Amino acid sequence: MSYLFPTYNRLDIELVAGKGAKVKDSTGRSYLDFIAGIAVCNLGHSPVPVKKAVEEQLNKVWHVSNLFQISQQEQAAKLLALASGLDAVFFCNSGAEANEAAIKLAKKHTGKTKILSFKQSFHGRTFATMSATGQEKIHSGFGPLLPAFEYLPYNDEDTLAKVDGEDIAAIMVEVIQGEGGVNPGKETFLKEVEKKCEELGALLIIDEVQTGIGRTGAPFAYQHHGLNPDIITAAKGLGSGFPVGAMIGRKELVSTFSPGTHGSTFGGNPLAMAAVKATLETIFDDDFLNGVKSKSDTFIRSLKEKLEPSPSVKEVKGKGFMIGIELETEAKESIELLRNSGLLTLPAGPNVIRLLPPLTVTEAELEEALGILIETLQAHETEAVR
Ligand SMILES: *Cc1c(COP(=O)(O)O)cnc(C)c1O
Repeated sequence: MSYLFPTYNRLDIELVAGKGAKVKDSTGRSYLDFIAGIAVCNLGHSPVPVKKAVEEQLNKVWHVSNLFQISQQEQAAKLLALASGLDAVFFCNSGAEANEAAIKLAKKHTGKTKILSFKQSFHGRTFATMSATGQEKIHSGFGPLLPAFEYLPYNDEDTLAKVDGEDIAAIMVEVIQGEGGVNPGKETFLKEVEKKCEELGALLIIDEVQTGIGRTGAPFAYQHHGLNPDIITAAKGLGSGFPVGAMIGRKELVSTFSPGTHGSTFGGNPLAMAAVKATLETIFDDDFLNGVKSKSDTFIRSLKEKLEPSPSVKEVKGKGFMIGIELETEAKESIELLRNSGLLTLPAGPNVIRLLPPLTVTEAELEEALGILIETLQAHETEAVR
C-alpha cells in the first residue's frame, strides 16, 4: 500500500541511476531516456558543471531569504535577460508558479481583467494556471474556474482576428503546444497573436516552460519567429533537475511588481541559482545551440523519411528536440513496446509519441533510438494488420 495520493499513473519501474541520456532501473536494466524528466534534464543526467556548481554552493550556504542580497540570483537573471532581450526576472519554483507571476503582473500592469489562452494548451495545475489551461479534462471536478480566462482555437488566425474588447489584459500562448500534442504554432498565427496584443493594448505572454532553455535549438522558441513578447515564463530545463521557475518581463513592467506585490520563500535561493547559472552558461552558448540544431534537424529528417511512409504514422512534427510522432491510433501501446525495447518516450494527447531527449544526446544514441522506433512501429503495424 502506498501513502501517496494517486495523482500519477506510475510505471512499475524505479530509475536509480543516470548519466547523460542513459538511465538504469533497480533491476539493472538500462534505457535510452527520451523523456529526460519531461524536458527537464536538458544537459542529460548528472551533468558535471551543474553538479560542481551545486556542490560548491552546498558548502557555502543553502538558503537565505529574499530579504538579503543574493548575488547568484542577479547573475542568473542577467543570463536570462541577455538571452531573451527582456529586462527583469522573478524567480520561483515551478512552471505553474512562473505563469502565476505572469498572470498577476499582466492584470496589475494593465488594470484589465481578462486573459485569452488557447484550446489544448497547458499552463499548469494551480488554480489560476489550470483555469488558463484550455483542456476540459484538466478542469473536470474543480469548477467554477477563475472567470478571467477564455479559450480560442489554436492556429486559427481568422477567429483571433475577430477578437475585440477593452478588458483583455493579456494573451497567453505556447509556441509549440507540448502536453496538448506537440502542435507547432504556425508563424502567421503567432504573428497574428502579437498583432492582436498590440491592437488591444494587451500583453503578450509566451509560456516557454517546455519549449525554452535550448529545447528547440534556440534559447527560447519564440526567437525562431522574431516575436517580441512582453513576458515569457521558463521552468522545466532551467535548473537541470533542480526545481526552479522564472518569469521574465520587459522593463516597462518592472515597477508594477514593487515590494510586497509578489514573492516566494524559496524562489531564487542560492542552491537553485547555482544550478541555473551553470545550466545556462552551458546551454546559452552558440556552439552548443548550433550542435542541438544540426543534430536535431538530421534526426527529424530521418524520422520523417523512415516513419512517415508507414500507414500507422500520420506525421512527424516539432522542432529541435521537442518532437511528436502522431499515429493514426492510440500511442499508449507503442510507447510500451518502445519501453520494452529500451527506449523511454511519453505521450502528448492520445495519439502522439513525444520525444524529449537530453540536448546532449549523441549521434550514436540518436541512431540507436531511430532503429528502435523503426523496428517497433513496423512490428506493431504487422501485428495490427494480422
Ligand atoms: C510543464 C508545463 C507547465 C507547468 O510546469 P510545472 O513545473 O509542472 O508547474 C506549464 N506550461 C507548460 C507549457 C508546461 O509544459
